[in-house]
Amino acid sequence: MTYETLALAAFDAVTPLGNHTIVRRAVEAGDVRIDITHSGICHSDIHSVNGDWGAQPYPVVPGHEIIGRVVELGADVTGFAIGDRVGVGVIVGSCGTCNECERGLEQYCANEPVWTFGAPDPHLPGQTTHGGYSREIVTEAKFVYRVPENLDPAGAAPLLCAGITVYSPLKTWGAGPGKKVGVAGIGGLGHLAVKFAHALGAQTVGFTTTESKTDMILGLGADEVLISSDKAAMRDAEGTFDLIIDTIPFSHDLNRYLKMLAVDGTLVVLGALTPITEPVIGGLLTGKRRRIAGSNIGGVPETQEMLDFAGAHNIIADIELIRADAVNDAYRRVVAGDVQFRFVIDAQTIGLPVPELISGAEAVARANGGALIVDVRPERFLDSDGRNPLATWVDRKNMDSYFVPGGAHFLGDVVNDSDRKIVVMCGSIAGSRPMADWLLAHGFTNVSHVDGGFAGWKEAGGSIG
Ligand SMILES: [Zn+2]
Ligand SMILES: [Zn+2]
Repeated sequence: MTYETLALAAFDAVTPLGNHTIVRRAVEAGDVRIDITHSGICHSDIHSVNGDWGAQPYPVVPGHEIIGRVVELGADVTGFAIGDRVGVGVIVGSCGTCNECERGLEQYCANEPVWTFGAPDPHLPGQTTHGGYSREIVTEAKFVYRVPENLDPAGAAPLLCAGITVYSPLKTWGAGPGKKVGVAGIGGLGHLAVKFAHALGAQTVGFTTTESKTDMILGLGADEVLISSDKAAMRDAEGTFDLIIDTIPFSHDLNRYLKMLAVDGTLVVLGALTPITEPVIGGLLTGKRRRIAGSNIGGVPETQEMLDFAGAHNIIADIELIRADAVNDAYRRVVAGDVQFRFVIDAQTIGLPVPELISGAEAVARANGGALIVDVRPERFLDSDGRNPLATWVDRKNMDSYFVPGGAHFLGDVVNDSDRKIVVMCGSIAGSRPMADWLLAHGFTNVSHVDGGFAGWKEAGGSIG
């Protein structure tokens, strides 16, 4: 028994991601069906779909930072109710009987965990698992986590991979009061490592190569920032760290950080998965009984513990929320390092049509042909309290209330006549696009928006009223 749901998929290693319909299993006795609201973009999604880590079972639906609401429960499921906010992370199954599984370390299952996407699906023979870039997911309840309601759901999504990836080594190697913890590489993982280390009570130090990032890193909760090119400051700090969380995602010189460790200090490699090309100096290990370690995500109990801790300390990722059709641009920006610090997809926009972008001249031509012009410039579109509703446009639920009073000016008696074109514009494209999206999401067809908004329309000789 299966059903279909909308998704974003990679069809091969080179073509941009696109809309796709996938099959999910109908809820079995131990399952939870989740209406996905948010899905984080992890750099490993990009490596996977690009085939960097081996051949892929295309089409691949990536995503393992999943937040949503429970919409259906299997007969045997306890501990969840319909409507609960929940999360799914990097794994959705494991053997349950090996030594690691019995210790709650399912991520290291001796028989290999079931990865959330791109893995053989034990419930649907012959098919692969599909991840969070989709409208819905059905998952064994054991691998579904309770997400504290006080956390912003978009910012909470990256906790399911990036968050647990840094929380687990911080806990394993004793980050807490009286300990000095360094974080190298302040990106998706690193910025959360700083937040968690600080909240755990450790003296937290961020390492950066870029002096201009100092204030930003302090703002995340670091007590101190060390500029790695500042040789004197780095030398002064040698031998003082109990733990360094190294999130640098490529091969680099570990000796520089080993030197910083105190006796029994641990350097945890999280990001560099390829061979470390700079030879490690043995004397730096023996001289102070230092360790180099590694870590990968977390097990089921620890992932829930991390979410509860994040809820208690109000820790979420710094994110940029995007619509599904912006995913390919987001991928380019992640690869270029141009994100602060994580993209999260509004999963409810997956599969929605994208409004056509037309020129001002085309808008004028359509208006003359009887198109309905929707002008939502702020100065023409105030709600009953005289406030500009554009400011809160992100809250789609409120749209109904602007949409109706807006009729006072132009929307009046909008009829979704499929032959009638609807042209949306406002002061800028930033305003017209959300309104066009809203119309499409509510079943209107033939919706376009104007390049340059009202200015583009006016340049082409258009008028209003
Ligand atoms: Zn990830
Ligand atoms: Zn196992």
